[in-house]
Amino acid sequence: MSTATPQKFEFQAEIKQLLDIVIHSLYTEKEIFIRELVSNASDALEKLRHTQITETEIFDDKLDLEVNVTTDDKAKTITIQDFGIGMTRAELIENLGTIAHSGSKAFLKSLSEGGAKNSNLIGQFGVGFYSAFMVADSVKVYSRSWKKDEPGHVWSSDGSGSYEINESEGERRGTKIVIELKEDAGDFAQDWKVKEILERYSAFVSFPINLNAKRVNTIQALWLRNKNEIKDEEYTEFYKFQAHAYDDPRLRLHFSADAPLAINALLFVPKENTEKLGFSRLEQSVSLYCRKVLIDAKPKDLLPEWLRFLKGVVDSEDLPLNISRETMQDRALIEKLNKVITKRFLKFLEEQAKNHIETYNEFYAEFGIFLKEGAAMDFTHKDQLVKLLRFESSLTEKGKTTSLADYVSRMGGEQKEIYYLVGPNRAAIESGPYLEGFKARNLEVLFCYESVDEYVMTNVREFESKKLLAADHSDVKLSDLPQPEGGLSKGEIKDLTKWLKDTLGKDRVDEISASDRLVDSPVLATSADKMMSPHMRRMMKAMKQDGADSAVKVNLEINPRHAVLKNLHTLHTANPDKAKLVAEQLLDNALISAGLLDDASAMVARLNKLLESA
Ligand code: ADP
Ligand code: MG
Repeated sequence: MSTATPQKFEFQAEIKQLLDIVIHSLYTEKEIFIRELVSNASDALEKLRHTQITETEIFDDKLDLEVNVTTDDKAKTITIQDFGIGMTRAELIENLGTIAHSGSKAFLKSLSEGGAKNSNLIGQFGVGFYSAFMVADSVKVYSRSWKKDEPGHVWSSDGSGSYEINESEGERRGTKIVIELKEDAGDFAQDWKVKEILERYSAFVSFPINLNAKRVNTIQALWLRNKNEIKDEEYTEFYKFQAHAYDDPRLRLHFSADAPLAINALLFVPKENTEKLGFSRLEQSVSLYCRKVLIDAKPKDLLPEWLRFLKGVVDSEDLPLNISRETMQDRALIEKLNKVITKRFLKFLEEQAKNHIETYNEFYAEFGIFLKEGAAMDFTHKDQLVKLLRFESSLTEKGKTTSLADYVSRMGGEQKEIYYLVGPNRAAIESGPYLEGFKARNLEVLFCYESVDEYVMTNVREFESKKLLAADHSDVKLSDLPQPEGGLSKGEIKDLTKWLKDTLGKDRVDEISASDRLVDSPVLATSADKMMSPHMRRMMKAMKQDGADSAVKVNLEINPRHAVLKNLHTLHTANPDKAKLVAEQLLDNALISAGLLDDASAMVARLNKLLESA
């Protein structure tokens, strides 16, 4: 058989099926064909580099290892040329005419698993070389092997069932793919358009990529370099480029792992938490690469939700370029990556918290909310995350924080629970009535200022088998203190509580008792509804949820040593009308402290009345 005569071949049946889908799909991101062809070119260059190590006789050995992309807007063509390993005639048939290779095979497999003519699958799989037919009227592959005695060939097809191979004189080593673009794909013959695509998908390919003789990829795949040789400025430059960021990174973690998967990762924490600034919810945006070629810029399950503030790159050579969330096998790979990276990042934070306290605290002030979210929702990592939480407390200075572990180390022998109070800020919590009983007993109380805190604390539930308990919860029972002289007697308390109950009415007040946690305040309210704390109710109100508008019903605790209560006891028989006004006002005061007063207008009228009589 003479190789000089034109040779026509039928594609394998599977390839025909594949081409039919590729050509007729309405898949919108046709641009991925560039990624596929450039990564094939890069693979071919890599293979040549290996061959150069083992072989001495290499055709065209002086050629630079680079990829040249050229566009011709008039002729409506795009050409992708590499000086890589090239293909012999047999290899052209084997590689481009049969379905022996990875990506396309997986694509077909998933189709037969029920994907039908799902055009989305193309995007996920890339379908390698054949993706060129999404945009091509015809594809010509000029190739010449590195082997000295092999002649060059041109493989050509319009994708309609057959291809031709002819010998071709004067080819250089490697492969040149010329695509005649379809009418509606003319954009891919535009320099600016192709530049944009190359920058997106192929920015870190290690071989130079030139577009119309201009170098496109100038930034290195920093994550694959030895971290001892990388300067801070290089990291920063990389971060800005890769994450499209304008700030400097706050923290970075550069690591590699070999098992269970080969991973090279470079992760950054940005300076600012934009969610906190009120911008929209962040999207997971650590990009997934396979040997420097972008697989997915926003792979959804690569990291847990609460790590959505991270930027950077994860590269694993164990991944197929055409990874898909549709197949079990690939999902398992992503899960493995997720596990390794999350574990490593948590370890990194632990180290920061231990050895770089100030840096960690600054990080926490900005991004702590994500750790709280994780502690509350991510059961797998909860224990580690809880250790990373920080709070101000009644024993810290303003602006200084404590960990739960440190809190526990300060707990006295009798203290069984960890107490916390939720409030808008330190001053509000310190001036409210709830803290004083704890202070009087030397019990530390954590201060929580964020609206999610109550939810977080409720979900975390306990730490080192100590229950987390809201200090304003009606369940809190404090030890007895020696009672100071001069309080109301038992009998007087009984009188007064009964009168208060009748006066304030069952609808608003459930239980009234003399309090063991009040020192300086006359009265405090706790929610009578165990399921809905005052704070929870406020949150629901803010979110306009059902149930938030139901009438508030509270338990009241009164301070029998407080002058107001002592006076009230006298007043309730001497001047019942005025006493009623005082009782109402005390209830409202307690509701204000609990954040439960919905409407203050009645209070203003009452206060005016009380002032009149003063
Ligand atoms: P994959 O890259 O997943 O193997 P492709 O469909 O992209 O699948 O490519 C099929 C095969 O064709 C490759 O495995 C390779 O052997 C060969 N090939 C494609 N492009 C080139 C090239 N530029 N140089 C040499 N061989 C190539
Ligand atoms: Mg490929």
